[in-house]
Amino acid sequence: MNITHGLRQALQVNPDGLATVFGSRRRSWREIGERVARLASGFHALGVKTGDRVAILSLNSDRYLEVYLATGWAGAVVVPLNIRWSPLENEDAMRDCRANVLLVDKAFAPIGAALTKVIDGLTLIYADDGDAPEGMLDYEALLRRSDPVADAMPGASDLAGIFYTGGTTGRSKGVMLSHGNLMANAMNALAEGLFGGGAIYLHAAPMFHLANGAAMYSILLSGGSNVIVSGFTPEGVMAAFQNERVTDVLLVPTMIQIMADHPALGSYDTSSVSNIVYGASPISEAVLDRAMAAFPNVQFTQAYGMTELSPIATLLHWNEHIGDGRAKNRHRSAGRASLGCEVRIVDAENRPVPSGTVGEIIARGDNVMMGYWERPEETARAVVDGWMHTGDGGYIDEYGFVFVVDRVKDMIISGGENVYSTEVENALAQHAAVAQCAVFGIPSEQWGEQVHAVVVRKPGADVEAATLIAFCKERIAGYKCPRSVEIRDEPLPLSGAGKILKRELRKPFWENRKRMVS
Ligand code: ATP
Ligand code: MG
Repeated sequence: MNITHGLRQALQVNPDGLATVFGSRRRSWREIGERVARLASGFHALGVKTGDRVAILSLNSDRYLEVYLATGWAGAVVVPLNIRWSPLENEDAMRDCRANVLLVDKAFAPIGAALTKVIDGLTLIYADDGDAPEGMLDYEALLRRSDPVADAMPGASDLAGIFYTGGTTGRSKGVMLSHGNLMANAMNALAEGLFGGGAIYLHAAPMFHLANGAAMYSILLSGGSNVIVSGFTPEGVMAAFQNERVTDVLLVPTMIQIMADHPALGSYDTSSVSNIVYGASPISEAVLDRAMAAFPNVQFTQAYGMTELSPIATLLHWNEHIGDGRAKNRHRSAGRASLGCEVRIVDAENRPVPSGTVGEIIARGDNVMMGYWERPEETARAVVDGWMHTGDGGYIDEYGFVFVVDRVKDMIISGGENVYSTEVENALAQHAAVAQCAVFGIPSEQWGEQVHAVVVRKPGADVEAATLIAFCKERIAGYKCPRSVEIRDEPLPLSGAGKILKRELRKPFWENRKRMVS
């Protein structure tokens, strides 16, 4: 199977079904199929050959979806670029993947234009409405003058895309995913009950990020529809829920928090929404509770995964959140190994640890990446005997539920005790004044590292550091409680995928010092 299988399927069984909605533009699968086959032909005319990389730097759009499919249809490799990258980071990625074709929308046309000055032989395609700026090919004109071609039908082991990791911990790495990797994830997700039954799926998270991108492949297979907004805004998402009768959406925890706390939520009709998949970073129980209260009729599913796993590793289904009396804190779990993906916990010597013991999460299955693009040493370190070493710390309880406690490199060792930031964040987030928080280790003469928290207050809330520390002491062991708390009103720095960038918060504290744990 390859990534265009879903499109061929839709063309066969549901050609007149609604494929995409973007603003006032609505297209059927038949139209999308025709446009994808023309775009693939256009890529060929530009010299794109089997295995060549085609990059895209754009906000979400229906054309973004077409590019995902047309690259596969042409036998090429899609490279979605992170919309939060600086021009220099884009240049790095373009040099890294050596794409000769780059598609940009209006928002990123200036960066595209600058890239043509530093990268030889780069063809720019303007994938937006209105006239293409000088020096760029017009997407619609390219489609018009290209005759549709047949699907190149790449094989399961062929490279389908290079997906750069979220860049949360440092420089992004190019993850090579095959057609088989992506389809394994898409089929596993469907078999787990996600995105099936003709879902009307809202692309609210950025399409460059695989958490959202991968959902698209499942939607394609199930004959669903794609409602697309150019980017996440709480009111834009609520309006799309209401106007397009959206059924399914993937939201990262920061989006969930913004939505759940939004005063306008009650004025929209969100009754069509039945499934919210959340994941990509830890969520606090308090935020999850608020979200569940805000959307009482929605089934929430947590997904834990990573780009390297195409991306799903574990799922916590809606009926597992409730628990069954055996485990109260299942809210904190990321769920059980998803179909087709085995999950284990190992110690630093790669030996399996008993249940309940924290170690590194490793995973194996058809969803494990081919490797990091042109980084064989890093690939060899990450994938050992077919097992992806996630770099995430966690444990598995006696019922098979996986708990992600922290990134291994982020674990705080304070006075010889391990502290996991998520546990502290969970405690802090229960305080009524806390909108967002991030916990990390800062240097301490006495403790080696000390637990530090940055807290964003809810608008109008008044709270002091000492109050929050005392609040934590009632909930978690003393050594885990923050010794210092910075309270602020401005939001925390986020990555392009909407994850809190702890490395930026941590940096000033560690500037001239080496971290104890590495
Ligand atoms: P980089 O690898 O460049 O530092 P990144 O790891 O954030 O960035 P992604 O592949 O997008 O890039 O994210 C995968 C990571 O996100 C996981 O390794 C894990 O740390 C975190 N994550 C994903 N889902 C969850 C979840 N449900 N709960 C907790 N953490 C999660
Ligand atoms: Mg990572």
